[in-house]
Amino acid sequence: NLTGRLSDVIKTLKGEARLTESNIQKALREVRLALLEADVALPVVKDLIARVKEKAIGHEVMSSLTPGQAFVGVVHQELISIMGGEKEDLNLSTTPPAVILMAGLQGAGKTTSSGKLAKWLIEQKKKKVLLVSCDIYRPAAIHQLELLATQTGADFFPVQNGQKPGEIGAAALDYARKHHHDVLIVDTAGRLGIDEAMMNEISELETLLNPIETLFVVDAMQGQDAVNTAKAFSEALPLTGVVLTKLDGDARGGAALSVKHVTGKPIKFTGIAEKLTGLETFHPDRMASRILGMGDVLGLIEEAQRSTDEHEAKKLMQKVKSGKGFDLNDFKAQFQQMKKMGGMSAMLDKLPAQLSQAAQNVNVDDKVINRTEAIINSMTQQERVKPEILKASRKRRIAAGAGVSVQEVNRLLSQFDQAKKMMKMMNKGGMSKMMRGLKG
Ligand code: GDP
Ligand code: MG
Repeated sequence: NLTGRLSDVIKTLKGEARLTESNIQKALREVRLALLEADVALPVVKDLIARVKEKAIGHEVMSSLTPGQAFVGVVHQELISIMGGEKEDLNLSTTPPAVILMAGLQGAGKTTSSGKLAKWLIEQKKKKVLLVSCDIYRPAAIHQLELLATQTGADFFPVQNGQKPGEIGAAALDYARKHHHDVLIVDTAGRLGIDEAMMNEISELETLLNPIETLFVVDAMQGQDAVNTAKAFSEALPLTGVVLTKLDGDARGGAALSVKHVTGKPIKFTGIAEKLTGLETFHPDRMASRILGMGDVLGLIEEAQRSTDEHEAKKLMQKVKSGKGFDLNDFKAQFQQMKKMGGMSAMLDKLPAQLSQAAQNVNVDDKVINRTEAIINSMTQQERVKPEILKASRKRRIAAGAGVSVQEVNRLLSQFDQAKKMMKMMNKGGMSKMMRGLKG
């Protein structure tokens, strides 16, 4: 699976000081497979791999990261940039009514998304919205939209018998102008596959209505097939954006990359449920994490990058490695590091479910972090560096100063001792000894 592949990537690069052409070969292959498994189209995968390679080689590895983490970080960044980097908003800056034309295959989610969009515009943007359906082939589809209009509080423009799509569109636009609607959403008919008659029909509508947004609606579950559909629609129409639907299914998000790559147009919304509230604005960074399938581990990496003072981190690592000279000041610094990263609970949120469970069992919560800091703050420098001088009277003074009990001071000191022992063990006997130590 994906997460497995990426942790393999991290392992592959263990112990490397710098990312080089030769040591990232295997990692690149894993990423390539991971992307294909996520349903990203082959040409997109190739392009992405080339970019990652270029960015990764010679990449400086921060002391707070392993080379594997740094590499995955590069992959993540490139995924984001291939999806357009920043989130892009719906454009409504035109003389009202702003026309939004919905295009896409049958079943992609055009009608549902029209309803969701109407709700979003009414509730979030306080707009007056008119809905119209040009799907004259399926009376049920028109009724479906009418129902959505009722549910969202949008106005609905009814179709007269025998009207052609162009006539319906023109009449609706005229009505929207007269009734001061801010937005006119035009739902259209789709076909099961790319079809010339359909393309001609929607092109004519586009020319006639001159929409500010022409949104290509595509089903994320289509995976690789989304590429061909996206290509056909972007060649026939001046698309302005994409709505990627059905991401609540087991779609792995690869379509997001492919569609952006092929059309060159930003994804503006995602459909995440059948119901009317199931519409979200699109965030490239979140989608990149989804494609990598790693929860928000990457967020954690970024957090570390931001909050670590490189020099401090190096010094601390050195001490942790040697176990020498590690005192209560360093112990406090470790806890402060944790706090900078948003505390234990924020860190737990970002870990994948399994890891998070394990971390919770260790039982370090934010209160403990704060208390630890308070206790160490109440110690003199001498006490921090030489904790063995801490006898009963000093402990009582510290406890009073920190507003805790003497037992808590003792607990902290024994935690510190354990941490120190652990470091020594790691240093002497390596991991296996440490594991034995933990069991016993
Ligand atoms: P259209 O032919 O393009 O108009 O597609 P519809 O809007 O009629 O949607 C086709 C089916 O997909 C319907 O059953 C919708 O309820 C469903 N659907 C649309 N968007 C989503 C979504 O984001 N999530 C889920 N789970 N279902 C969706
Ligand atoms: Mg429809």
